[in-house]
Amino acid sequence: MSEGTSRQDALRAIAGWYEKTPARAGVALTNGYAGPGDSYAGPWHRVFGKDVFSQRVMRERLPKDVFKSFVNTISQGKPLDERIADTIANAMKDWAIENGATHYTHWFHPLTGSTAEKHDSFLIPDGQGGAVSEFTGAKLVQGEPDASSFPSGGVRATFEARGYTAWDATSPVFLSRGQNAVTLCIPTAFVSFGGEALDKKTPLLRSMDAVSDAARRILKIFGTDTGVSRVVSTCGAEQEYFLIDRRFYVNRPDLLMCKRTLFGAPSPKDQQLDDHYFGAIPERVHMYMAACEEVLYALGVPVATRHNEVSPGQFEIAPVFENANVATDHQQLTMQVLRTVAPRFGMQCILHEKPFAGVNGSGKHVNWALATDTGVNLLDPRDEAHTNMQFLVFLCAVIQAVDTHAPLLRATVGSAGNDHRLGANEAPPAIISIFLGDMLQDIIDQLEKGTPTSTKKNANLDLGATALPQIPRDSGDRNRTSPFAFTGNRFEFRAVGSSGSVAWPLTALNTIMAESLHAIADEIESAAGKNPTPAKLTATCKSVLKSVIKKHKRVLFSGDNYASNWHDEAEKRGLPNLRSTPDTLPVFTSKQTQAAFKNTKVLSKRELESRHAAYSEKYANETSIEARTMLSMARTLILPAVLRQQAELAETVAATEAAGVNTQDTRDALDIYVNQVTQTRMAIDALESALAGTQDFDHHKLPTALRDQVIPRMDELRKCADELERHTADDIWPLPSYAEMLFVR
Ligand code: ADP
Ligand code: MG
Repeated sequence: MSEGTSRQDALRAIAGWYEKTPARAGVALTNGYAGPGDSYAGPWHRVFGKDVFSQRVMRERLPKDVFKSFVNTISQGKPLDERIADTIANAMKDWAIENGATHYTHWFHPLTGSTAEKHDSFLIPDGQGGAVSEFTGAKLVQGEPDASSFPSGGVRATFEARGYTAWDATSPVFLSRGQNAVTLCIPTAFVSFGGEALDKKTPLLRSMDAVSDAARRILKIFGTDTGVSRVVSTCGAEQEYFLIDRRFYVNRPDLLMCKRTLFGAPSPKDQQLDDHYFGAIPERVHMYMAACEEVLYALGVPVATRHNEVSPGQFEIAPVFENANVATDHQQLTMQVLRTVAPRFGMQCILHEKPFAGVNGSGKHVNWALATDTGVNLLDPRDEAHTNMQFLVFLCAVIQAVDTHAPLLRATVGSAGNDHRLGANEAPPAIISIFLGDMLQDIIDQLEKGTPTSTKKNANLDLGATALPQIPRDSGDRNRTSPFAFTGNRFEFRAVGSSGSVAWPLTALNTIMAESLHAIADEIESAAGKNPTPAKLTATCKSVLKSVIKKHKRVLFSGDNYASNWHDEAEKRGLPNLRSTPDTLPVFTSKQTQAAFKNTKVLSKRELESRHAAYSEKYANETSIEARTMLSMARTLILPAVLRQQAELAETVAATEAAGVNTQDTRDALDIYVNQVTQTRMAIDALESALAGTQDFDHHKLPTALRDQVIPRMDELRKCADELERHTADDIWPLPSYAEMLFVR
């Protein structure tokens, strides 16, 4: 597909794309899986998991005892028996090669937020001019990529480059398919020579262990731990994204470099009519979604929903939830597939949190809960009546954790991109609060006062009689404005940005929950003593939870989080409002954060400091790149264009005057235009010198300096340029417009 060079080329080419569409779509949709006569939906069932080294494949290919031992590792999170690694590696290799693979890779999650891979061939020269294929247990279990250029936040210097990847057997191995290359991908953790986590997976796995131990302690107190060998945190991440025609994308250096428009006057129409939200999915997008789903199904990613989102050009995909580790790997794959499949349809998928000013940005709602390996969701209020005090313990533990560590949760979703979204009027504000819904809020209120005796509306619980309520599932309305909302049997962390990994927010949630559960368990155990009677246990729980609620209820808020008076109210309650990423960065190294991560053995002080450094640098780099891209666009695209327009206006004045006609009106227009151009040039210079002024700062000072000195200059430059866009001839303006990008589908 050849890309156009100008907006006009782009528009012509888009028209041409539709003419070519049917053949293209036919290839994408059937692609060999659907035989003649197959129904549209039918083939997907056979595709699902096709590219995964799944339990089904393993059962077929591994000796019985090896299979059993391996399944044990996966389900219990137990260490892998090293003796079986060779057998597994061999089976994996055979399966991969039979499916067309030539290479394998240790696939990992560096601190960049994306995934990394370095491919190695299965092929080994046999010394006689031929080659054999080889893949050993050692190669499966451990790798040493020369990955010294990844951000480590100072944990290792480039000259001490050793970094190891270690197989995470709890997440399935899969095949990644390119046009003519198939690669066996092995999910791995990435650690330094000294064993420090250089990635996002290692802390996530540690946090899952921590929250499992803590939750099992609570279950033990209630005697509900029989048969439970592990509690897993679960995650279902809804992904919002934008699609624009790729020809517009390649004509916008800002989208190309920064995935966000740094200039652009608003379109006359955007989302005012709410006619895009949940609307009929445009045909080209629909074909794209089906193609993505096909790839994701083959990878075993259980995507389930698709729909139009609020902004024109915005869409959403969501999976069925899975354990947090697998869900995280699958979320990364989802983003990758969304990005790589779009060009096949002449489109570009944009995962940035705020690609277009003035319309909704994109989030990633992280649905999170805890479940036993026997299948009980511990955040489901509808458990058997006798376990409901247990539910209230888990609920209050969440309240305590979120209130205590609100700054940390805010910090885990901080990024240059998300700063444009959090607090804008479609996204939850930067103030972290919890929405419980009417029913739970009422129970919490009653519990705070003493013994709850009643329940709101159509509910069937009588806390007064048993103190162990049966709580109906739909216990209240939803609150779409809350950053952390209870949604029936899970919490939905809605402040997470669309472009990042869910690993870090999940790691933080698991960690602070583990800390909170341990604290509550300590109190219950010391107050109730050994083997308390059920009545004593209930009374103890009530009094412990009462004090938790008293202390932490300030974090509960059911009102409109978008309303400006919530900011005043939150301030009165003493809730932190960390407005931008530079405000959140110090949280990583605060005493409170360090204690939570250290006590749960999730991250050491040094590992936290390295994250502080890596995320500071990421913010600074992203912001500086945006500033430089703006400067380059303003100088090489916008200024030349507006000078052309200025010359045209001047020529018009001269020609009109030569014809002996009064030109006052055109002269005024020229005057105003020239003035705007001058303002723009001044704004360019101001941005340039502001950026130069931050060059010598280190990573501690740079983020704040960029936010305070550079970003305001970027805003000014954008204002000037957007004003010019409104007054410049369409055939002269060098960039695709908001209307074109948002409405051509
Ligand atoms: P909505 O947009 O109404 O929030 P969606 O169906 O788009 O609903 O997304 C809800 C997400 O929550 C899905 O990914 C779903 O699998 C997930 N989910 C449901 N139950 C749980 C749970 N117990 N733990 C984690 N995620 C869950
Ligand atoms: Mg949702």
